[in-house]
Amino acid sequence: MLQDKDRIFLNLYGQDDWGLEGARRRGIWDNTKELVALGRDEIIQRIKDSQLRGRGGAGFPAGLKWSFMPKENDGRPHYLVINADESEPGSCKDREILRYDPHMLLEGCVIAGFAMGAHKAFIYIRGEYWEPLQHLEAAILQAREAGLLGDDACGSGWAFDIEVSRGAGAYICGEETALLESLEGKKGQPRLKPPFPAAVGVYGCPTTVTNVETVAVAPSILRRGVEWWTGLGRPNNTGTKIFSISGCVNQPCNVEEEMGIPMKELIEKHAGGVRGGWDNLQAVVPGGSSVPCLPEPICKHMLMDFDSLREAKSGLGTAAVIVIDKSVDIVEAITRFSHFYMHESCGQCTPCREGTGWMYRVMKRLVKGEAEIDEIDTLLDVTYQVEGHTICALGDAAAWPIQGLIRHFRPELEQRIASYRQMMQAAE
Ligand code: SF4
Repeated sequence: MLQDKDRIFLNLYGQDDWGLEGARRRGIWDNTKELVALGRDEIIQRIKDSQLRGRGGAGFPAGLKWSFMPKENDGRPHYLVINADESEPGSCKDREILRYDPHMLLEGCVIAGFAMGAHKAFIYIRGEYWEPLQHLEAAILQAREAGLLGDDACGSGWAFDIEVSRGAGAYICGEETALLESLEGKKGQPRLKPPFPAAVGVYGCPTTVTNVETVAVAPSILRRGVEWWTGLGRPNNTGTKIFSISGCVNQPCNVEEEMGIPMKELIEKHAGGVRGGWDNLQAVVPGGSSVPCLPEPICKHMLMDFDSLREAKSGLGTAAVIVIDKSVDIVEAITRFSHFYMHESCGQCTPCREGTGWMYRVMKRLVKGEAEIDEIDTLLDVTYQVEGHTICALGDAAAWPIQGLIRHFRPELEQRIASYRQMMQAAE
């Protein structure tokens, strides 16, 4: 369990002032000038050494991603883009950083931006996040007035400023290239890659898109040291992480914990346990709605980190832990996810546009059991035809929850089909 001395997010619950004064009290903006003075290469090397993995869902090594930005400037400006679109069902961690500790993100932007050779950052925030937006914009003004942003950011000699852009509520704009399209004022549809954003990003310029939490923790890593960060969690899954626990628990919450904490401990210590006790647990969706669910027998031994969950054929995703107890119709719950992905598909590629709707319609029939047994395998087959065959990962996100359901709850599906058949025969 994470000790208080290792906590980074000291105002996650908003008990303290979210403004500049409070931020300074918590050590934010402490020696930012000295951190910038480390130089581009050293900052990136330390982030690489820390083994920090992106907190937006994919878990890509952050230092490596930052290093993709061109070292030499070819005349085009470099941009840092913060993905604050947080739309994955179950995920609500970035909201609290923006709302209660926006200066953490701003300081991280200065350091990450400098490391990428960028003089400007855009923060693309989910449009519905009204209060977080107000705090974020006020914090930017405070930072400008205090000389922390501007022509000589933090007295470092590096010019750096931040602009905020609001999304309009499309889930797909959380995908990095759709986000860039939307930022440019176009319809939010993912771009084909390559070229990757580090070569051709926003306005055709080198860009790195990265998650709020990833950037917010970077100054603490540099300040407290790589060894401290890698001493938390386990190799390749280091540091702390904000988990968002929701669903059938007694106290839904966001909590910062050590990477690799056992799932059972996370739920019982921080979320007041499963409603009706652990024995009433049916399944957990451990990383936001797009990752496959895990049944209770697996959950009780599960560690909450990228590699452990991948080995269990699920994923840490955004660490949005959705707890499902035995009172929930799990087929209906996963069908709800299917509806979401069908609705949010941008429609550019056929497997996603047609497949998400097709999968949803079959799932809807399966809720009642109104299907043939061999349709379960057909459905599974279709999920594999969608997965990995689309422009962006929304196709995968639509396929994985269904794959998880069939992998772990096939007897439930078969039993529903048998019951429905019996009911129909009795009615004839
Ligand atoms: Fe659009 Fe879906 Fe294709 Fe992504 S996978 S580009 S959301 S149609």
